[in-house]
Amino acid sequence: MKQSNLFTKTRKEAPKDEESTNAKLLIRAGYINKEMAGVYSYLPLGLRVLEKISDIIREEMDAIGGSEIHMTTLQEKEIWEKTNRWDDEVVDNWFKTNLKSGGELGLAFTHEEPLTHIMKNYIQSYRDLPVFPYQIQVKFRNELRAKSGIMRGREFLMKDMYSFTKSAEETDAFHLEAQKAYMNIFDRVGIGERTFLTVSNGASFSKYSHEFQTISDAGEDVIHLSRERNIAVNADDYGPEILKDFDLEGIEFEEVKSVEVGDIYKLGTKYSDALGLSYTDEDGTTHPVDMGSYGIGIGRLMGTVVEVLSDEKGIVWPESIAPFQVHLLSLGEDEAAEKVYATLTQKGIEVLFDDRDISAGAKFADSELIGIPYRVVVSANTEKEEKIEVKKRTEEDERLISVEELISQL
Ligand code: ATP
Ligand code: MG
Repeated sequence: MKQSNLFTKTRKEAPKDEESTNAKLLIRAGYINKEMAGVYSYLPLGLRVLEKISDIIREEMDAIGGSEIHMTTLQEKEIWEKTNRWDDEVVDNWFKTNLKSGGELGLAFTHEEPLTHIMKNYIQSYRDLPVFPYQIQVKFRNELRAKSGIMRGREFLMKDMYSFTKSAEETDAFHLEAQKAYMNIFDRVGIGERTFLTVSNGASFSKYSHEFQTISDAGEDVIHLSRERNIAVNADDYGPEILKDFDLEGIEFEEVKSVEVGDIYKLGTKYSDALGLSYTDEDGTTHPVDMGSYGIGIGRLMGTVVEVLSDEKGIVWPESIAPFQVHLLSLGEDEAAEKVYATLTQKGIEVLFDDRDISAGAKFADSELIGIPYRVVVSANTEKEEKIEVKKRTEEDERLISVEELISQL
């Protein structure tokens, strides 16, 4: 893409009311636009990152048997009343609205109820199980505080998968598969090394739940972490019983701030009982379907990557989720740069080509702020050498190499 076609501009300052590093950098670099607290639009660069993350998540969900769907945001009150989750006294972050023709609607903050309701059309017998629908869809939550940028939105993109199985044992087995898939996702987006499976007290229907917490000072959570055992315990839940149950007694723990990037829950038959989702087994006996839910905040994940990998000059994207692989800067050598652009794009390499008529200094500063993994400069100097100048965003030094060498490296 030519930068002259990119309508966004970088900014020296973030909005005054923005406190978080992720939103400040993403706004300044033109990835997102702040509409109001906790509500952000994704602009061309931001959308590319969201889609890269979503595609990685899709691959990992499909690999464990997931099938993608897309449910509605508008929610019928009656379904949520069946599980006692319509009442604002019970769920404190609903956004609700009214129909012109009369009656209340909700904007989904999660989708257990409507999906259980849908699945009644498709699950009747043991032959229909197990199944693992998932979606990447917008959630609405009336969060009291929204000061963490895209890490805590009032409107945000979530991947939510749900498991429908014959028994708690089958759910347990899938739970382990999901844990592995989740770690693959966090590895692939570049935060695997600092992301830990965390146990916390579950809700009424299961004793414990699992979260994936990424160590970051920008986090709103605190965990007790054992690097040696590669596991963490949620701070509030750090009690003798949980340590005993997970065989963690006598282990040394470090207390760190963290971001909950994902979580996996065993739901048991809470929703299937309330909404009447059951199946008949080989003997013709009827059983409630066993369920689990598996969430990842996609905006939160993107914000977390920015928080933990950025430096004083700007964002640093891992190659896997960068909006482009190469940021090509032409320093007064547009014709030569055009040729490099054509060669790289023909090879399928994603290039943002800074063809704007602005100073070299401004191009360099923008490039650091935007954070594309490889910066390639074409100038009178590089032309003389018949090379290009390549610098990785994560490194200090630039190298003069040929276009072919860069292609083989990528
Ligand atoms: P938190 O405790 O941070 O409020 P939660 O436990 O209520 O999150 P879940 O209902 O478990 O959130 O949602 C699944 C995932 O969605 C979370 O693990 C997180 O990654 C993401 N998420 C939750 N709330 C938000 C939000 N307001 N903005 C962005 N992502 C969110
Ligand atoms: Mg959670």
